[in-house]
Amino acid sequence: MANSRIDKSFKNLTSFADEVLVECPYCKKRAIVFADQGQYTVPYSTKFKAKFRCSNCYKPIDENLWYGPITISPANANCGYCGSPLKYSKTVNKYQDKIEVKCQNCEQEKKYDVHYTLTYADNKQATDPYFGFQLWLQIPFDDNILWAYNFEHLNI
Ligand SMILES: [Zn+2]
Ligand SMILES: [Zn+2]
Repeated sequence: MANSRIDKSFKNLTSFADEVLVECPYCKKRAIVFADQGQYTVPYSTKFKAKFRCSNCYKPIDENLWYGPITISPANANCGYCGSPLKYSKTVNKYQDKIEVKCQNCEQEKKYDVHYTLTYADNKQATDPYFGFQLWLQIPFDDNILWAYNFEHLNI
């Protein structure tokens, strides 16, 4: 039962993503992200229009920023000293344009430009796809989390 529900929510993700319940980054109460359905394509284009509203503290956010976790890895695929392939990535909460990576072969450290991807959801947390705020509806479930964008999405 639980598994079928997870599958279903992933399948229907985009059709329910116009209103997302999130945790307000300021007061930690429930806030809403409104998205303009017509503005994005699957999975998510960067040209979306979304608005954030917290009806508790009413603090505005910068709607051009990503507030959620980011996975970064070196833009160079190979070590700058010995040329060995670099295998490195980590998830951070703030964007940085350089990372220091230690080569596993020659053990020399060097700063590399960063290649990054935004992280919407992994097995520990889930965020809205527009600003990266923590989803309001998420509960631990075995080694994973079960999450939903809103109550309609939850289908209970
Ligand atoms: Zn708030
Ligand atoms: Zn090396």
